[in-house]
Amino acid sequence: MRSTTREMAAHKRVALVAHDNMKQNLQRWVIARKEALKLHHLYATGTTGTLLSKSAGLPITCLFSGPMGGDQQLGALIAEGKIDVLIFFWDPLNAVPHDPDVKALLRLAAVWNIPVATNEATADFLMDCPHMNQAFTVEIPDYAGYLKERTE
Ligand code: PGA
Repeated sequence: MRSTTREMAAHKRVALVAHDNMKQNLQRWVIARKEALKLHHLYATGTTGTLLSKSAGLPITCLFSGPMGGDQQLGALIAEGKIDVLIFFWDPLNAVPHDPDVKALLRLAAVWNIPVATNEATADFLMDCPHMNQAFTVEIPDYAGYLKERTE
């Protein structure tokens, strides 16, 4: 498929998600990174976002809870180019009932070429990367071209 580019602004739209066993880790991480995260617009799945806004006192746009459709909402926002970075502390040791949604979310993040951290070390790397606070251009699928090819 042909590709095009999308410009991410310096002010990023960052999605935060944590599975139940990882929520405390994400809360600790967000509190430690609070000043840096304040520079961005935060989104989260329902439970994660509600806990984080209470514990860290940050404004967060909360979607539905993950098992109730929140992961799919995030995937749709990624496809629409409305999320720039995904920080997803998923639980590698326990299965979740909405595993297909988790897989779909990670798949769309790969399709639309957004930076994804699935553990704390990668989240630290992302936050300390200069691109986090600068405009950055990513290559994405050329959807208009894809549609044209399929409908001509
Ligand atoms: P939650 O969803 O924030 O509502 O717990 C996260 C998830 O996808 O498990």
